[in-house]
Amino acid sequence: MIYFDNAATTKPCAEAVRAFENCGFGNPSSLHGLGVEAEAVLKDTKNAILKKLGKEGEVYFTSGATESNNLAVFGTANALKRRGNRIVTTAIEHPSVAEPMKKLEEQGFEVVRLKPCEHEDFEKAIADAVDEKTILVSFMSVNNETGFVIDSKKVYNEVKKKFPKCVVHSDGVQGFCKVPIYADIISISAHKIHGFKGVGALYKSKETRLLPTVYGGGQQGGLRSGTEPVELTAAFGAAVRAYPEDLSCFSELKAHLLKLLGEADGVTINSRNSVDNIVNFSVQGVRSEIMLHFLEEREIYVSSGSACSRGKISPVTAALGISPKDADSAIRVSFCRDNTVEEINALAKGIADGIKRFRR
Ligand code: PMP
Repeated sequence: MIYFDNAATTKPCAEAVRAFENCGFGNPSSLHGLGVEAEAVLKDTKNAILKKLGKEGEVYFTSGATESNNLAVFGTANALKRRGNRIVTTAIEHPSVAEPMKKLEEQGFEVVRLKPCEHEDFEKAIADAVDEKTILVSFMSVNNETGFVIDSKKVYNEVKKKFPKCVVHSDGVQGFCKVPIYADIISISAHKIHGFKGVGALYKSKETRLLPTVYGGGQQGGLRSGTEPVELTAAFGAAVRAYPEDLSCFSELKAHLLKLLGEADGVTINSRNSVDNIVNFSVQGVRSEIMLHFLEEREIYVSSGSACSRGKISPVTAALGISPKDADSAIRVSFCRDNTVEEINALAKGIADGIKRFRR
């Protein structure tokens, strides 16, 4: 099997599996030794995440980034609604940010959505849209469909210079471990970095105030009630620690793939200003799903755009400047550190064969 769908999910690494198996079963709220041990596991993972992010502050565990994004958006809006009602975001957000934004709009918030295809300098456009009424800026650090990068340092610095009280949130799911992320709150997910599904986290700077979206036993300082998923969290920490600092493997794979795609007939590259582990391209005259299933017959797994959009052409691709025709034949290839040049060769051969067989 050749797996090139790592932006959808990754295989848990050996370190994560081992950490899961070796983790005690105690409840961190228990006062006895097993509880203390479990609490220590949470602390260890928090420290690993903070170190990787290069930040000081707080980390809250959630069921995944969907919940982290909901907590970030609703938690900020509810905490700050007396101060203002304007929110600035982008038109390329994952549904776990985009849908909460729609709900806030229904509640009377003004939501401004910016499209990268309409701005030369997208970071400046985001920062320029902020005014004194704006309580939240929310943008993804890396887009899941094309790998498009938003320079969070630039947005963060520009926004804070003018409006220090405006909260900056970044959906860091695709960017975590790959690009630096500057924000007051950051959502991350374990299963995108070789941990398990079912656990994510929300980083928050000490000064940022959020209201909970889940109420209950008051765990995690009351911000996210519910018994913490200790075993999944142990694996999350191990996956973070095992994630390499040196990501040159991605740039090598990307360069090789781009070279082979350049030699192929009628292939357009949709990724621009993108991370090295995601390449989105369109094979003219072959619909995404046809190519996807053809490759699957060879046990090569890719995605047609974003797995979350389940085959529907997404408005996100349009906002990224991709034409409907290109979107209809878009393939997303996303690497992990275990992929090889030989696997890229097999993919390129598969695409060339698919073109011969299906091109209309
Ligand atoms: N944001 C982005 C950018 C994503 O790619 C995903 C996963 N597709 C999510 C949020 C949701 O993450 P989770 O699967 O952990 O809920």
